[in-house]
Amino acid sequence: MEDFDTLLKRSAEHHGHLCAGQVIGVRMAMLGCRLIGIEDPQKDIKKLIVYTEIDRCASDAIGSVTGCKLGRRSLKFTDYGIMAATFLNLETGQAVRVCSTESSRELAKKYAPQIKDTRKQQLHAYRVMPLSELFTVQDVKVNLSELDMPGPTQAKAVCEICGATVRDGKEVIIEGRIHCRPCAGDSYYVPLKTRVVEDDSLN
Ligand SMILES: [Zn+2]
Ligand SMILES: [Zn+2]
Repeated sequence: MEDFDTLLKRSAEHHGHLCAGQVIGVRMAMLGCRLIGIEDPQKDIKKLIVYTEIDRCASDAIGSVTGCKLGRRSLKFTDYGIMAATFLNLETGQAVRVCSTESSRELAKKYAPQIKDTRKQQLHAYRVMPLSELFTVQDVKVNLSELDMPGPTQAKAVCEICGATVRDGKEVIIEGRIHCRPCAGDSYYVPLKTRVVEDDSLN
C-alpha cells in the first residue's frame, strides 16, 4: 500500500478538498484493508468489497484508497448515517467493521492544542491520533448474496405494476405479484407526471 501522505493527497484531489473526513477515511481504509490481510487494495481489487454507512466526506476517501466503486459493485452504500465502513476479503471471508469514535472530536483538542481553528485542529489531530482513539473495530460476518457479487447481472424480473426491469433480485413479491421497490411503496420520490421526452430537449 502507498504511504498515508500519498493516499491523502490523491483522495483530496478526487474529493475536491482536503478535510478532516479525508484524513479519517484514508486511515480507516488503510486499517480496514490491513486487518483483513489486504496489503495493497489496488492490486487485490477483485478480493475486496467495502460497505460504507454514510454519504459524507470520509466515504470518498475510502473509495479513493481502496479503488472500490459503486459502478463495479465493490463499493456498497448502506444509508445508516454512521461514520463506519466494513471491509470484506472475498477470498477468506474475513471482515472488519471500523467505526469512527465520537470521542475523537473532543480529543482533537488534546492532540492539537496549539491550533485554535476547529477545522484545522481536527485535520491535524486526526493525522496523529492513535488508531485506538480514532476507531473502534469489530470482527463481523458479512452475508453477501451471490446476486450482490461483482460481475454480470444474474437475475432480472419485470415489475407487474409499472413494467420496470429489476435487476439482481431486488424485486419484492406482494400477494404473489412481482413489484419493483417503488411500486411496493418503498420509494424516495412521489411521481407527479410522466413526460414525453422530446428529441431536441437539450437543444
Ligand atoms: Zn470533505
Ligand atoms: Zn414498478
